[in-house]
Amino acid sequence: MNTILITGAAGFLGSHLCDRFIKEGFHVIGMDNYITGDQRNIEHLIENTNFSFIEHDVTKHISIDQKIHYILHFASPASPIDYLKIPIQTLKVGSLGTHNLLGLAKAKKARLLIASTSEVYGDPLVHPQTEDYYGNVNTIGPRGVYDEAKRFQESITMAYHRFHGIETRIVRIFNTYGPRMRLNDGRVIPAFMGQALRGEDLTIFGDGSQTRSFCYVDDQVEGIYKLLFSDYAYPVNIGNPHEISIRDFAEEIIKLTNTTQKVIYKDLPVDDPMQRQPDISLARKLLNWEPKVTREEGMKKTFEFFKNLPEEDLFKREH
Ligand code: NAD
Ligand code: UDP
Repeated sequence: MNTILITGAAGFLGSHLCDRFIKEGFHVIGMDNYITGDQRNIEHLIENTNFSFIEHDVTKHISIDQKIHYILHFASPASPIDYLKIPIQTLKVGSLGTHNLLGLAKAKKARLLIASTSEVYGDPLVHPQTEDYYGNVNTIGPRGVYDEAKRFQESITMAYHRFHGIETRIVRIFNTYGPRMRLNDGRVIPAFMGQALRGEDLTIFGDGSQTRSFCYVDDQVEGIYKLLFSDYAYPVNIGNPHEISIRDFAEEIIKLTNTTQKVIYKDLPVDDPMQRQPDISLARKLLNWEPKVTREEGMKKTFEFFKNLPEEDLFKREH
């Protein structure tokens, strides 16, 4: 049986990846320090003999006494308000954490896939974003802590690949959503759905003309799974190219949730990218992958999840 270590296992994407690899017959070791995660995301796995869990901060030395064949490094705050609140930890998990996992991959002769992001393109001047675009990142702005951690993560991963011959994969994830996102993590989907459920107005930052392209979690997991087992070491965009402005998206959420609330406008956060859409030609060609779940279908499933959370989640204010 192959063993896979998944960091960030108690988070949104990490927990879905644990489920997928268990389903595929792997032994999964989950690792997390719960800084932005939730134990409830993995509680259904605790009794599973193919799952074990290590509570650990990946920026500290990692020692595991068993054979590991694959590693997925997904630990990192991912929501803008999370990484603005814990900027140093964000820089450390992308840099020191990645270094530790590369060292572990080298020692275990394991293949490592790292979670990079569309944020490496910053506020992009090329649209849609192709993998060969170098990006437009403000290194010293508040978002720089996340963007530069991820850019460093890609650089050190390629260095280990070239210098030590480690088998590595890099996925550049574009906005992904679905059940198990934290209702109060501040990202636009939980934010709008939470506001609708609490009977509050939906907060649009800026004039709402900025765009995003939202990918349902099952599609993202499938893309990551295929990339891991491909033989391609360079970055690959995985996301849904169906782009929408935040203003139009708010209207969609108002319809879906049947709320009688309206939209209100707030200041646009510093360095908030104005447009984002993945060019997924490479993933289509290399992995024979493309997203299948429509936004309508994915948003319905996500809203069902948020609707069924205990009421205390709805009113828990973290920020
Ligand atoms: P999340 O916050 O739900 O999950 C991140 C998990 O990592 C949490 O459980 C957190 O506790 C854990 N973690 C953070 N620092 C840690 C540390 N030092 N040691 C151990 N565990 C630590 O976020 P997510 O949306 O699931 O994102 C997962 C990964 O995917 C991140 O690396 C993120 O940058 C990347 N990503 C996500 C998206 C998206 O749209 N969801 C987009 C681009 C990239
Ligand atoms: N956004 C918004 N209202 C909110 C939360 C976010 O208008 O309550 C906007 C945000 O400014 C950004 C977009 O929605 O332009 C997506 O934000 P999110 O935090 O989900 O992700 P990211 O900016 O990292 O793509």
